[in-house]
Amino acid sequence: MSSLVGERTVEAHRADVVAWIERDGSSLSASRSLASDLNGEMAYDRHLARTLWADGIGRWGWPESIGGFGGSVLLRAVLAEELARRDLVHQNIRLMPEVLGAPVAAMASDGLLPFVEPYLSGQEWWCQGFSEPGAGSDLAGLATRADPIADGYVVNGQKVWTSLAQFAQRCVLLVRTGTEGHRGITALFVDMDSPGITVRPIDCMHGEDEFCELFFDDVVVPGDRVIGEVGGGWSVAMNVLAAERASIFWMRSAWLLGRFTAAVASGDVSDAALGEVYLNLMMLRSRSRETQHAMAAGRFDAASSSIDKVLMATAERSLFDALMLHSSRSSLIGNHHQDARARTEFLYSRAATIYGGTSEIQRTLIAQRVLGLPRGER
Ligand SMILES: Cc1cc2nc3c(=O)[nH]c(=O)nc-3n(C[C@H](O)[C@H](O)[C@H](O)COP(=O)(O)OP(=O)(O)OC[C@H]3O[C@@H](n4cnc5c(N)ncnc54)[C@H](O)[C@@H]3O)c2cc1C
Repeated sequence: MSSLVGERTVEAHRADVVAWIERDGSSLSASRSLASDLNGEMAYDRHLARTLWADGIGRWGWPESIGGFGGSVLLRAVLAEELARRDLVHQNIRLMPEVLGAPVAAMASDGLLPFVEPYLSGQEWWCQGFSEPGAGSDLAGLATRADPIADGYVVNGQKVWTSLAQFAQRCVLLVRTGTEGHRGITALFVDMDSPGITVRPIDCMHGEDEFCELFFDDVVVPGDRVIGEVGGGWSVAMNVLAAERASIFWMRSAWLLGRFTAAVASGDVSDAALGEVYLNLMMLRSRSRETQHAMAAGRFDAASSSIDKVLMATAERSLFDALMLHSSRSSLIGNHHQDARARTEFLYSRAATIYGGTSEIQRTLIAQRVLGLPRGER
């Protein structure tokens, strides 16, 4: 990426980021190697976020209103990329502050803005309470209700697949405050220690209980905890989607490229399989680069970002298919930590076609909203 960002060029920022990593990278790498489970990875990520914020390098690209140094989102993308290339981040953990922090910073009232810095600087953790047992792809059908009381709302309902909610102090929660589809949805900023909230982790097949079920029983949320407008929750959800497809995808694709390069160097994986992975990764990187620049220029197009999501899922699955199924290593049964990691990554890559909108839904959106094809018969 090459671009001028206010007083600070992307190139100058990258040079600072690389210098920072050269100074602190080996101690970060050593800390991360001690993280043997999800608790350890969370503790490492909090340490990383605190250090990045305290040293200032993590503040670039975030608005000054929440303690950032300003500048475009490209600066955040560059930091994420350089960390991911060196395997210094747990992908699924580090993405969350980008996904939730940016939209809340953009849409929050003055009263909510002070909550953003503690999140970005590693002092707090938030979760995203959108999906429900009966509302995933059909998010507009969500049923968790927030009924008005004198000075706020009473929330009742259930959420599911809420990533890392067991660690969260706050939740960006979509609730129904009206009757009509997406116009009746509001986003609330909820304290996770409010009476009436139950968090139940779910065991996942890749070995880490990364998701939870959330239950809300008569949970009182003050009226000043609305993010954006009452009935404006859908635009919060769309901004969360946009944030995911910005620096997160750039970070994840950089990490995938690092895993690909290691696979090439190992000589374990068939050339034909690696060739196909390379094509998928390059398509993703090229497309994602365009999206970063569109986002930085205020030209983000939610409909066409479905293309990024399909390319991401295709690249991720093809890479871990190649590592697991077209490799001379028997990672399926091997005992080495490398085999255990390959199994975890292979299993997690199955989720790539689901999270952030399934590939079936993305293809429908591309057909209808990008290509302008007619709706199919039901
Ligand atoms: C790793 C991971 C992390 C996640 N983290 C979070 C989180 O933090 N917070 C949160 O709120 N949610 C989270 N989710 C949930 C995610 O957003 C949903 O899983 C996703 O939106 C799909 O919803 P669903 O699981 O209910 O599947 P469903 O919507 O029930 O879909 C089931 C299948 O039917 C297909 N399908 C459904 N409708 C159609 C249609 N109209 N046309 C064609 N095919 C269709 C789907 O493509 C899919 O294959 C996460 C999911 C994963 C995998």
